[in-house]
Amino acid sequence: MDWLAGILELLGGWLVGNKKKVGFISNVFGCSVWIYVALTTHVYGLLIVVVPALFVNTRNYLKWRKEEMANKNFKEKKYMDEGGNVCPYCESTDVKAFGQVQVDGASGYQSAMCNQCESEWTDVYTLTGVEEITGV
Ligand SMILES: [Zn+2]
Repeated sequence: MDWLAGILELLGGWLVGNKKKVGFISNVFGCSVWIYVALTTHVYGLLIVVVPALFVNTRNYLKWRKEEMANKNFKEKKYMDEGGNVCPYCESTDVKAFGQVQVDGASGYQSAMCNQCESEWTDVYTLTGVEEITGV
């Protein structure tokens, strides 16, 4: 059993290194297995390290997820509400679109940037209508 706990923790460390928050979940399972091992083999000293580690990993996971969701919601919604006139990263209004609009079917794409924080992103446009100019 202890090898399973070790593998789960190694996997968890690897995933967190790849910025995958699911790595913390792997660690939580690893800790749970360690607790099982400690209780069944009566090596209670293990619990002193493993039980706090269980809480630390759970906390890290929740904190990371909360931050990810806050970032995602904030940036995109605010940008759309302001009609693309505010930086989605720093909220500066010193933003500008540059380069040509690339059209792909009913969608258009144009690069944009913030003069304040120098972040770059891509504005995405959607075909919303058609106006008649000449017909046959
Ligand atoms: Zn900015």
